[in-house]
Amino acid sequence: MTADVTDLMKKLVSLCKRRGYVFQSGEIYGGLQSSWDYGPLGVELKKNIETSWWNFMVSTRPDVVGMDSAIITHPDVWKASGHLKNFHDPMVDCLKCKGRFRQDHVEGDSCPNCGGKLTEPRDFGLMFKTQMGALEDDSATVYLRPETCQSIFVNFKNIVTATRQKLPFGIAQTGKAFRNEITARNFVFRSREFEQMEMEFFCIPEEAEKWFEYWLNERMQWYSELGIKSDNIRTRKHDDSELAHYASSCLDIEYTFPFATGGWGELEGIANRTDFDLKAHIEESGQDLSYLDQINNKKIVPFVIETSGGIGRTMLAVLLDAYREEEIEGRERIVLGLHRNLAPIKAAVLPLSKKLSENALEVFNLIRPHFPVQFDETGSIGKRYRRMDEAGTPFCITYDFDSLEDKSVTIRERDSLDQIRIPVETLVETLKNLMDSGWPAAK
Ligand code: ATP
Repeated sequence: MTADVTDLMKKLVSLCKRRGYVFQSGEIYGGLQSSWDYGPLGVELKKNIETSWWNFMVSTRPDVVGMDSAIITHPDVWKASGHLKNFHDPMVDCLKCKGRFRQDHVEGDSCPNCGGKLTEPRDFGLMFKTQMGALEDDSATVYLRPETCQSIFVNFKNIVTATRQKLPFGIAQTGKAFRNEITARNFVFRSREFEQMEMEFFCIPEEAEKWFEYWLNERMQWYSELGIKSDNIRTRKHDDSELAHYASSCLDIEYTFPFATGGWGELEGIANRTDFDLKAHIEESGQDLSYLDQINNKKIVPFVIETSGGIGRTMLAVLLDAYREEEIEGRERIVLGLHRNLAPIKAAVLPLSKKLSENALEVFNLIRPHFPVQFDETGSIGKRYRRMDEAGTPFCITYDFDSLEDKSVTIRERDSLDQIRIPVETLVETLKNLMDSGWPAAK
């Protein structure tokens, strides 16, 4: 990592702690490595990302339904999916500095860290094992799911029967996944416990590549709606040597994560999983998971296009994309220029003086039922603006001494620093319009 990269990540991690986005898990006990807790603002941002995904992928579409499966899954699921056999990363250790690396991340046989000699590659199982029930023998072994999608395949028949969905259609799920990553690092980019957002789109085999292209465009559209700058995101097709055992074609949506080798790191994978998973579960379970094509009156095993992203990685990309430092009228400020739909706090009410707190609280109470809003009366007004800039709050509402007379307040916009004065009685409506269409001057 270059100094700049380390610097940017350090600054972001520090901001995340300072403002209550993300904390090191178990910090008071020295911290659990690569485990993260989301604070008051982090949980809101995470939920806003997830809700935006769910609305885009499920709620607004007639052809995608949702589900929410158990984390502890029947072990045979992982046998059928190939995880018990294939879900390993070959790792090499440096004999000199003791660093550990994924073999596919290392070129040659010397350590990328110190140039030392590396061991032969060894396999590391990535699934978290646990026991179910009182017995502690092999029959009680179960696994925490390493991905959310397998329970979609396992429930395919149930969902077709329950919903009468016709091909093509999708099943979507968000939730926790667990991988005992050997090289977990780079903040929430790679942790051992993380949240996925996955959608499996079932279609006839002849149309799989068409839907692959369709979903790629949809997913890029979603990232653009989150406000991620187009220069910082790209797609990259996997070459044949990279393809997962289940996929016939696969493409990554990548972001310019500052620590990523080559400058780009995976944000989401789009894959044509063919009929691999359904067929594997048909074979393992002995159940008929095929789909009856009623028009042609024949049974088929559909192909599947998967879109598979992570909430934590998306959040990290959104935060990196939004982070900036600038000088305004001779003063430094740090801003999180988050899209207003993602911002955890939409507006803050700030009385100019504590003497105005009671009146300003009335304004706060007026908007509280409509938006996540904060009240802040401590410190100079400049300091309070800076706090809100760092938290990514798009609108600050200042209540000053004139407000007592003219029953109006000033709204200050985070990025342009433009201000408008409006009557308190139109405040909620104005904020609703601003949330819908953005700040007029920014158009
Ligand atoms: P990588 O090559 O970075 O290990 P992957 O190809 O194994 O990722 P997938 O199995 O395709 O990842 O998982 C889909 C998505 O889940 C990823 O694009 C990423 O957003 C997220 N994800 C996977 N592993 C992790 C992790 N350890 N921590 C955080 N997010 C993860």
